[in-house]
Amino acid sequence: MTLPQCDTPPTPQRTADLRERYRIERERRVRPEGPGQYRPTSAEFGYFAADPYIGAVPEREPLHDTVDVAVVGGGFGGILAGARLRRQGVARVRVVEKGGDFGGTWYWNRYPGIHCDIESHVYLPMLDETGYVPEWKYAPGEEIRRHAVRIAEQFGLYEDALFSTAVTSLAWDEAAQQWVVATDRGDEFRATYVITATGTLTEPKLPGIPGIEEYRGHTFHTSRWDYGYTGGSPEGGMTGLAGKRVGVIGTGATGVQVIPMLAEGAGHLYVFQRTPSSVDVRGQRRMTPQEAGADRGGWAAERRENFLRIVSGEHAEQDLVADRWTESAALLEKLLPSFRRDGEPDFEVAYEAADHTTMNAIRDRVAAEVTDPATAAALQPWYRYACKRPTFSDRYLPTFNRDDVTLVDTADSHGIERMTARGVVAGGVEYELDCLVFATGFSVGVSGITSGGLPVIGRDGVRLLDARAQHGPRTLHGFTSNGFPNLIQMGSMQNASSVNFTHILDEQAVHAAALVGAAEEHCAVVEPTREAEDTWIGICAQGAPDHEWFHAGCTPGYYNREGRGRPNGPLAYPHGAVAFHDLLRRWREENITEVLQAKASASV
Ligand code: NDP
Repeated sequence: MTLPQCDTPPTPQRTADLRERYRIERERRVRPEGPGQYRPTSAEFGYFAADPYIGAVPEREPLHDTVDVAVVGGGFGGILAGARLRRQGVARVRVVEKGGDFGGTWYWNRYPGIHCDIESHVYLPMLDETGYVPEWKYAPGEEIRRHAVRIAEQFGLYEDALFSTAVTSLAWDEAAQQWVVATDRGDEFRATYVITATGTLTEPKLPGIPGIEEYRGHTFHTSRWDYGYTGGSPEGGMTGLAGKRVGVIGTGATGVQVIPMLAEGAGHLYVFQRTPSSVDVRGQRRMTPQEAGADRGGWAAERRENFLRIVSGEHAEQDLVADRWTESAALLEKLLPSFRRDGEPDFEVAYEAADHTTMNAIRDRVAAEVTDPATAAALQPWYRYACKRPTFSDRYLPTFNRDDVTLVDTADSHGIERMTARGVVAGGVEYELDCLVFATGFSVGVSGITSGGLPVIGRDGVRLLDARAQHGPRTLHGFTSNGFPNLIQMGSMQNASSVNFTHILDEQAVHAAALVGAAEEHCAVVEPTREAEDTWIGICAQGAPDHEWFHAGCTPGYYNREGRGRPNGPLAYPHGAVAFHDLLRRWREENITEVLQAKASASV
């Protein structure tokens, strides 16, 4: 097979070659166990998920009171829901959170080098409302965590919050028209409404490598960083690793940020890679408020809307953020006029050409920055841009030019082969390690009400999971389901998504607060009819096949259930987040009362 050169635009022949190369690279990595190749951080591996940031969990008495709204989850979803509710005058909002404070992902992930790879001015929510203006184009994790705390403080969410507490069940009491919320701390309190904001990538996972329990060196997961062992802080300075042989498994978005920092601290760093990430230009820099447009009211909402339009493939007159996310997305619009079939723009061919151009540039960059040709070749990603989370770094690739860093490519053995008491075996070679860091990601969607981790019992004792097993997911707009009054779900299911997920969550929070407001105003419960669900499912079903086709051809990862493709079914609104938000806005103005039903007579 003749492999295409990276610096020339794709021709039909090269496109065929690229497709074949992508297929071969995918086959090298698909494992028959699919998602079953991983182990959860529970039972014997539970210590990997323990909270390293609070010390002893503070004692408290169980609660048996009543609040207006219970919010499950204290990440940005729960914080924004709480803030939007408090803004409209809801008195008692109780956020229940497993971690020791607000922040969600940014509470747990504090690894060295942690930053957000979405521009801080569009990622940090409620900048207009808090008056906060980030200093850097890409905010460090600690700044993001503090912003989460800032919003929670400003909107009084600490007053009723419960930390280090997991909700264990939600049960609807029809007579009282309330939810009974039980927790693992013995609480059993009541709430008129429940909003679930449980996140998707919440539980760290480990590779199910034979012998993993035999390893005797020091080990931890990136989302529970052990600064007691490494020393230093998210800014670096890990003096505890001096002279040590350190290994890291995983080269996803986390690995790409943490590996340059580990290389600075370790005696020698071994990077165990199965699939290279696409590593695009970062362009980190300070930005003045004027440059961000922050000297005008409403600037942040305008900027994040502009970002959403561009990354969703919609036309925008100007690109306010102008980074590699937006430039890659805008390429398709630029190329589209050159690809026509029967006089019409040929979207699919233009999409593939744009994709190849972006990925060729990313592969070129590896060749230009990494001196050793074999290492450079192993670091080149051979799949479509959207198959895996794109990453951005100006430090990652040069790290592999250091004498004290070794890249161990494990693609041919489908990853690490096994672990021993002394270290890791890959390609038949044992690498002895003092410390092994798992940058191996998270189980998808295991913490919420769709996973069984949190049982929900609705009207007539119907369990949400049983209803979903029998009839598939049934919602109106992804938020509400018949039989589960006053339960509002935040997340991507039959809803919309985007790379800037805090924007999605904020739109969801506004919507959730509006649903509660409408129910209070009309003295009703929020609950869609089955007909309204049918209509919505019909709309969502229109888009499913394209996604399936795309992800089936992708290299394995959590985006496509480790190579198995996405599950069938009406999983998302098919016309993108911009259209979805417009639809929700119009619906709130014109039709919101459609989702209200009279309260059961006993309680009125
Ligand atoms: P990922 O799931 O993306 O990456 C896990 C890594 O572990 C992959 O490189 C995977 O290889 C590797 N791996 C797993 N098992 C083995 C094995 N047996 N042998 C060798 N390698 C193995 O997790 P991340 O924590 O990197 O990222 C998760 C998500 O978190 C991102 O997709 C993103 O959504 C979010 N994130 C966002 C950031 C931001 O700035 N906004 C920053 C960091 C994370 P393979 O690819 O072959 O499966």
